[in-house]
Amino acid sequence: PEHREERISRATAGRLSLYLRCLESRLREGQTKISSSDLAETLGITDSQVRKDLSQLGSLGKRGIGYTIVDLIRAIRESLGIDRTWRAALIGIGNLARALLRYRGFHARGFEIVGLFDSDTQKIGSEVDGQKVLSLQEMPATIETEAIRLAILTVPANAAQGIVDRLASTGIRGVLNFAPTVLKMPSNIQLVSVDFTIQLEQLAFRVHLGEDENTLA
Ligand code: ATP
Repeated sequence: PEHREERISRATAGRLSLYLRCLESRLREGQTKISSSDLAETLGITDSQVRKDLSQLGSLGKRGIGYTIVDLIRAIRESLGIDRTWRAALIGIGNLARALLRYRGFHARGFEIVGLFDSDTQKIGSEVDGQKVLSLQEMPATIETEAIRLAILTVPANAAQGIVDRLASTGIRGVLNFAPTVLKMPSNIQLVSVDFTIQLEQLAFRVHLGEDENTLA
């Protein structure tokens, strides 16, 4: 991939993902061009922020015409590294994993779950959503032969660090962690954690704060 002068920050990358969703939905509706102010208004951010973010992708917008949606989608996908397929392993095939497997949205965005792993001998060898659950012993070889680079961790909290340690010597380069625990990552693996309880607490806090503000007002 070509080297860009300025690295895209995590905050910008997060907004680029949002722009992408919005652009794809407009495209499905048959729209071909979009202005920065339209994007800004849809997502509730400022026009100048949108223009600043999109200027990092190169000079794509034309004054008075806006952006061609397909070009913008291509540029964003390229800059986020999602203009390719990412193969992911799913580790810990419990309820959450089964729900994730049934979600079709990953595939549509180029994410393929191609390896299911569990330590439970009752589950190993069974099929979930047409895929066989494999043992942890089979994990390193499968990651290599299937060229898997991402791992989705849906094991209980007390099992997560042990799995990460096992992944360190494999080709895995990123972990999406659903286990409610803090993980110590090897330097060659990126981590994104999704903790539903922490997010619910944040939500409760904001609602709680809002209520306080209302009573004070
Ligand atoms: P179920 O009732 O089907 O086990 P669950 O969602 O209640 O589902 P959890 O206890 O959250 O199950 O565990 C999630 C999955 O992680 C289970 O399938 C469990 O067997 C698996 N698991 C637990 N420890 C490990 C481990 N060390 N390595 C791999 N998988 C593990």
